[in-house]
Amino acid sequence: MTQINEPSFRESVDLMFNRAVALMDLSPGLEEKIRVCNSTYTVRFGVRLRGHVHTFTGYRSVHSEHMEPVKGGIRYAPNVHQDEVEALAALMTYKCALVEVPFGGSKGGLRIDPRLYEERELEQITRRFAYELVKRDLIHPSQNVPAPDMGTGEREMAWIADQYARMNTTDINSRACVTGKPLNAGGIVGRVEATGRGVQFALREFFRHPEDVAKAGLSGGLDGKRVIVQGLGNVGFHAAKFLAQEDGVAITGIVEHDGALFDPDGLDVEAVHQWLVRHGGVSGYPDATHTADGAKVLEEACDILIPAAMEGVINMANAPRIRAPLIIEAANGPITAGADEILRDKGVLIVPDMYANAGGVTVSYFEWVKNLSRIRFGRMQRRQEESRHQLVVDELERLSQDKNLGWTLSPGFKEKYLRGADELELVRSGLDDTMRIAYQSMREVWHGRNDVPDLRTAAYMVSIDRVAASYRAKGL
Ligand code: NAD
Repeated sequence: MTQINEPSFRESVDLMFNRAVALMDLSPGLEEKIRVCNSTYTVRFGVRLRGHVHTFTGYRSVHSEHMEPVKGGIRYAPNVHQDEVEALAALMTYKCALVEVPFGGSKGGLRIDPRLYEERELEQITRRFAYELVKRDLIHPSQNVPAPDMGTGEREMAWIADQYARMNTTDINSRACVTGKPLNAGGIVGRVEATGRGVQFALREFFRHPEDVAKAGLSGGLDGKRVIVQGLGNVGFHAAKFLAQEDGVAITGIVEHDGALFDPDGLDVEAVHQWLVRHGGVSGYPDATHTADGAKVLEEACDILIPAAMEGVINMANAPRIRAPLIIEAANGPITAGADEILRDKGVLIVPDMYANAGGVTVSYFEWVKNLSRIRFGRMQRRQEESRHQLVVDELERLSQDKNLGWTLSPGFKEKYLRGADELELVRSGLDDTMRIAYQSMREVWHGRNDVPDLRTAAYMVSIDRVAASYRAKGL
């Protein structure tokens, strides 16, 4: 019954926005200008497949152009609709502002179940959709730059980039029209893992602040924490894998579209992922307990819950039964505004989506910069860095020998110190820095005033303040 009053995804975003602006000193006119979605383009196009013309519906929303290009993924899902795309575009505006990525917010969607089509058909459909968007500058290196989202990945981004290049044969910046491309089509190392990697960096930064950890009723570091992940797709898989392999957490539950796996001692994330890719689901996986009603596993006891599948999965109906003290929103909008209040009243700490999953757009920004500069990160300085480090090592060794000091370098030091940073290291370093600084900016507002109830409100306040400053600078 409670679900009857559940706000829609877009209403949820607006409710959260309103909660934040109520604590700010913005003129009502500017407040409205920031909140509303500037435009949504709906396109219906036909593609001849299997002897028939099939009509598809797609959207591209531009939420805010306070900075251009605007940026946001393209989602392929059977239930995509305007409200959802607008909500996601709004989140992109706030997300980019929070992590200081110089883009406005946009999002796109195509109403399609990609599993029903062959690769060749998907290429035809994607190229046709891209054609419609390119024609209207809704894909453009300096105006609107899409990226992958649910149901799309490197393959689709490569088709889109190629379609743009065919239609703009003299545009030297054409590769910058879309991000998330494969390396051979102008992508950047570390983009595929970026959103999951960002979730890991966000959690690491959170656990660097014992005061915040205590607010969730937890203590210590990440090591040994029990984690349940929903959605083992791009974001969920990378987050779970890195947390298990590098931070010592136990992934006790994995919730997928066809049920959930549970193992109190920790699941083998790589093995489950391989099973999922091969069989299209987690059912039948031999080394864990399978529960057909996957959503029930969201309610299991754990230390950290990572919803990484889709929006609205924690709602007014199940929020009272959620037992995790800490939730990090790897997906966009997994907690509805109604559930957010229930969880806050229960003392659950939420690391909000606009921060938690900002790793994707951050590395997309690096890819866009790389495309515009047409040079791989690290190409100029890597060997120079190595030769300067070599000078120091040679000098230390000479001193030790000449002065008979008997110094020896620690094992492995020389190899590690001498190696100059490659593109992957630079990308991870830039992402880590971004996630740390953004957390600290939210935290400052959260702790700096006694009327800011949670991190989400703080995140909105930081973002809205920055967007407002851009609009003011434009004379609004
Ligand atoms: P994906 O398509 O790669 O993976 C989604 C996974 O969720 C799939 O494995 C799917 O089977 C599973 N799933 C679908 N419905 C489910 C359900 N009802 N219960 C449990 N599992 C379910 O998508 P993704 O790119 O990983 O995106 C996931 C979320 O992260 C979305 O909300 C997306 O907007 C957000 N996000 C993605 C990126 C990115 O870079 N890909 C960046 C920021 C935010």
